[in-house]
Amino acid sequence: MSEEEMYDVIILGGGPAGLTAGIYAMRAALKTVLIEKGVPGGQVSITKDVENYPGFIEIGGFELCDKFLQHAKHYNLEIIDKEAVETEPGIKHHSVRLADGTVLHSHVVILAAGGTAQKLQIPGEEENFGKGVSYCATCDGFFFRNQIVAVIGGGDTALEDALYLAKITSKVYLIHRRDAFRGSRILQQRVLAEPRIQILYNTVATEILANDKGVRGLSLKDTQTGEESEIDTDGVFIFVGFKPNNHIVPAGIKLNTTGYVITDEKCETTIPGIFAVGDLRQKYANQIVLAAADGCTAALAAAHYIETDKK
Ligand code: NAP
Repeated sequence: MSEEEMYDVIILGGGPAGLTAGIYAMRAALKTVLIEKGVPGGQVSITKDVENYPGFIEIGGFELCDKFLQHAKHYNLEIIDKEAVETEPGIKHHSVRLADGTVLHSHVVILAAGGTAQKLQIPGEEENFGKGVSYCATCDGFFFRNQIVAVIGGGDTALEDALYLAKITSKVYLIHRRDAFRGSRILQQRVLAEPRIQILYNTVATEILANDKGVRGLSLKDTQTGEESEIDTDGVFIFVGFKPNNHIVPAGIKLNTTGYVITDEKCETTIPGIFAVGDLRQKYANQIVLAAADGCTAALAAAHYIETDKK
């Protein structure tokens, strides 16, 4: 590949949104490259089970991602295993700089960088990451077999992963700052029916306690009474939301107050020819099926944009 190669479409990120954009762009005969550092798949690849992607009553997250990847490869999508560090908008075309200094140019850039787990930012969290503090139950749950763990959060991820951990560990504390979960009704019902999960409502963790072996407990505070307490736990799984990976979004593109990219219905940002898809884009919900739908929309719109642009 030459250093200054021109593409129709550059896709930044290889989760369900990016890979779907790749499938649609290749089928539209657009010269397309997808940039992803490491194995494509995104957040879904570290999700144990997916039960709401149409056509699959239950499928492993990694397996579903691999199907997306194989589908994209079937259409010969070029994938570069490197980090993209900068997107530079242009008038005639846009440019993307990779970590090794390579610069790629394209008519369209599709930003599909997803997001990463939000930190709780309490004492003991950073120091004990990998020593009992985790943001991925399917990656680390195995290390807590027959031990006690705490899950912090009240969304779908916290509920789903508390259920997963309840199958491996001896006890799961599910700690939520309010008295009602944000996660879906079906997951709430399953959590309530799981005897190994003890729910602590109206409770926040104030410190992760550790000894030289790693995490040993949690300091807690009741948000209603202010009462402070401690629990013994071997692990702390933190699922308090998600932060969009917007560092690659160029200045000039409008973000909302929480850092998600604002787009129109074609997934086009405030800069023509630059699209944002999946968990990076402001929308009603973050779901795999919606990420895939975004990828489709952006690639179809990209094809139209390029056709008009080339005339
Ligand atoms: P989320 O829905 O944003 O939930 C975050 C949870 O963490 C909320 O319960 C929130 O409490 C709590 N929280 C936030 N900051 C906190 C803090 N500083 N201290 C204590 N608690 C805090 O995030 P998510 O669960 O990661 O889900 C992200 C998106 O992915 C959602 O759209 C979700 O539906 C989707 N998802 C879907 C599935 C599925 O459908 N199978 C699975 C996983 C994720 P409050 O409720 O009080 O705000």
